Amino acid sequence: APVIELRQAGLTYPGPPPVQALAPCDLRVERGEFVAVVGPSGAGKSTFLNIVGLLDAPTCGSYLLDGVDTGALKDADRTTLRGRRIGFVFQSFHLLPHRSAVENVTLALIHNGTPRKDRAARARHALEQVGLGHRIDALPTALSGGERQRVAIARALVGEPSLLLCDEPTGNLDSATAHSVLELLEAVHAKGMTVLVITHDPTVAARGRRTLTIQDGALTEAGRRSR
Ligand code: ADP
Ligand code: ADP
Repeated sequence: APVIELRQAGLTYPGPPPVQALAPCDLRVERGEFVAVVGPSGAGKSTFLNIVGLLDAPTCGSYLLDGVDTGALKDADRTTLRGRRIGFVFQSFHLLPHRSAVENVTLALIHNGTPRKDRAARARHALEQVGLGHRIDALPTALSGGERQRVAIARALVGEPSLLLCDEPTGNLDSATAHSVLELLEAVHAKGMTVLVITHDPTVAARGRRTLTIQDGALTEAGRRSR
């Protein structure tokens, strides 16, 4: 099954007045794709992210994640599925400030069935894979922006999700740091991860092998590049 399958999925906020934030759309993202989603502010990117990330249910149509029809799920099952299948990376990192890098990553394993005794070693390995093996005990405040985002990427990946969902992952970084974070995302993709990056930055979008555009709530396929 595709990782993401939207079938005439859309979302209208009830209002009043009702706002159609995402018009009904179809989309298939296969395992191992690297997809960029671009569009101006207010176009519906967050709405799309919330649907794909299982934070909001579409108000029409359906969303299948790894072939599982998410519309049929109870809230608790949707939360469990989100925790197991989706790794989130945010613009502002969302790290716990009083926890070290390895603690931040370890916390992501608590709810996914990883035995307690294995968690720290897996977290350390994930940090080594993002090039932070030497910084595992550092607090976020002691890390640079790029290092913080690497911790966040390690946290997103440690549970081996189906989908890495990134919301403006370079939005808080200077351009050189942004470049290295993008290279990390590409390396993760090269190892087989399905990556979806939401951005309004054209240089980030240019990295996608496939680009979707959202404009006034309408999702369209802007172009497909060969790898
Ligand atoms: P983007 O992330 O691209 O900036 P959003 O998905 O946040 O766009 O918003 C899409 C549209 O939906 C905008 O017109 C916005 O004002 C509207 N919107 C967002 N959230 C709500 C809400 N909770 N209730 C009503 N309208 C909303
Ligand atoms: P391995 O130890 O599995 O051979 P490496 O540690 O050499 O892999 O990493 C290969 C590339 O994958 C590196 O450029 C690294 O940045 C990137 N990468 C980082 N974190 C992950 C991850 N959690 N999963 C997959 N690839 C990752």
